[in-house]
Amino acid sequence: MTTAPNQSVLTPVLTKNWGDEQSWKLSAYGDYAAAKKAFGMQPDDVITAVKDSGLRGRGGAGFPTGMKWSFIPQDNPKPKYLVVNADESEPGTCKDIPLMMANPHVLVEGVIISSYAIRANKAFIYIRGEVLHVIRRVQAAVAEAHAAGHLGKDIHGSGYDLDIVVHAGAGAYICGEETALLEGLEGRRGQPRLRPPFPAVAGLYASPTVINNVESIASVPSIIANGADWFSSMGTEKSKGFGIFSLSGHVAKPGQYEAPLGITLRKLIELAGGMRAGHELKFWTPGGSSTPLLTAEHLDVPLDFEGVGEAGSMLGTRALQLFDETTCVVRAVLRWTEFYKHESCGKCTPCREGTWWLTQTLSRLEQGQGSAEDLDLLVDQCDNILGRSFCALGDGATSPITSSIQYFREEYLAHLEQGGCPFDPEASTVFA
Ligand code: NAD
Ligand code: SF4
Repeated sequence: MTTAPNQSVLTPVLTKNWGDEQSWKLSAYGDYAAAKKAFGMQPDDVITAVKDSGLRGRGGAGFPTGMKWSFIPQDNPKPKYLVVNADESEPGTCKDIPLMMANPHVLVEGVIISSYAIRANKAFIYIRGEVLHVIRRVQAAVAEAHAAGHLGKDIHGSGYDLDIVVHAGAGAYICGEETALLEGLEGRRGQPRLRPPFPAVAGLYASPTVINNVESIASVPSIIANGADWFSSMGTEKSKGFGIFSLSGHVAKPGQYEAPLGITLRKLIELAGGMRAGHELKFWTPGGSSTPLLTAEHLDVPLDFEGVGEAGSMLGTRALQLFDETTCVVRAVLRWTEFYKHESCGKCTPCREGTWWLTQTLSRLEQGQGSAEDLDLLVDQCDNILGRSFCALGDGATSPITSSIQYFREEYLAHLEQGGCPFDPEASTVFA
């Protein structure tokens, strides 16, 4: 876990207690003061506070959280649900899992406040099935909160009831897509549903449902405790607050760095002790492999929704995967594409068939067995997937391919000229 090397730039809120002894225990966390404060407010006032804070979804898409909550139709007699998307699976993304391990009570407290705001009496935390240790940790935190009277009937005499169910997924990346997650929660095969209707109108069991990422919900207690202005004083004009940036790959001190949105990769690399000794940055992902690659030219791009968008990529999950000059970009992209082919749920043809074709064409190129026309074919295949797929998985699969061809066309051609990969697989510690 990361200790803050420079407190003036980092903003440790969610990560503040990560190094503390048994930080995951209720005794170390506190007495849910923010939830108690929220119970003294009207639910609509809680929604207004979150709206005013400017918090935007931390799962990748950046949709305004308070606005999403306000879409819940309160005149609908059906039960309302809160579902936490803890199916963190985007390659390179490692923020929600360490957060739930080190500080599960901030998530549970966030669930209580958020559920109270939308008038839900049942909430679900959907955790990816592979991380049994995280599931156990969150289950233990929910049990502790229940025993302490923070959950259950008439919580702290507020007249408000809430139960939380911790649900284990079954290991499919697509179940991070919110409607596929709902299908899984309802006991069906995880495949996306058509939107609209959005879950806010017809979600779990066709009832109004808010689905938010772990980090979004975990940010809520600090907003209620410190006020919307405190939160919105950090970050940039349209991307307020702080977020956890996960640095991985060829960096001296990989880990989670919590900083205001708008910080640059140059600054984060400095905080992480630089690139590994003797090497320099070649390419990176701003938000996992579904976001277009950027290069060393983009070190000063503000890491907020707007800045990364202007640079031609997306902020996504802030999964900053850094690769130095020893890494073959073609090989890296092939690995990611194989992942998308494997995880395609099969519902729509452009993604199901297209990701298969992409891996075929890319493998040929990576082995130096294709021709220059294969590069055009690859771009054409991407054009036939992007915007034609049923959900974001198909679109995301094309991002590393088209961006790598944009920046590293010569490297693809070098594979053809040399009849194979020009890189020494031993030199790079990743994608060898
Ligand atoms: P989206 O922009 O379609 O939706 C974002 C959220 O806003 C959803 O909850 C949606 O229901 C809501 N929303 C949007 N428009 C709405 C409307 N008109 N009315 C009501 N609600 C509305 O994005 P998405 O397809 O849900 O997610 C894509 C993102 O997921 C990508 O940006 C990617 O970075 C991210 N992602 C994250 C992971 C991970 O591991 N955390 C994995 C893969 C992808
Ligand atoms: Fe399934 Fe891929 Fe189509 Fe999404 S884009 S519905 S993952 S086949």
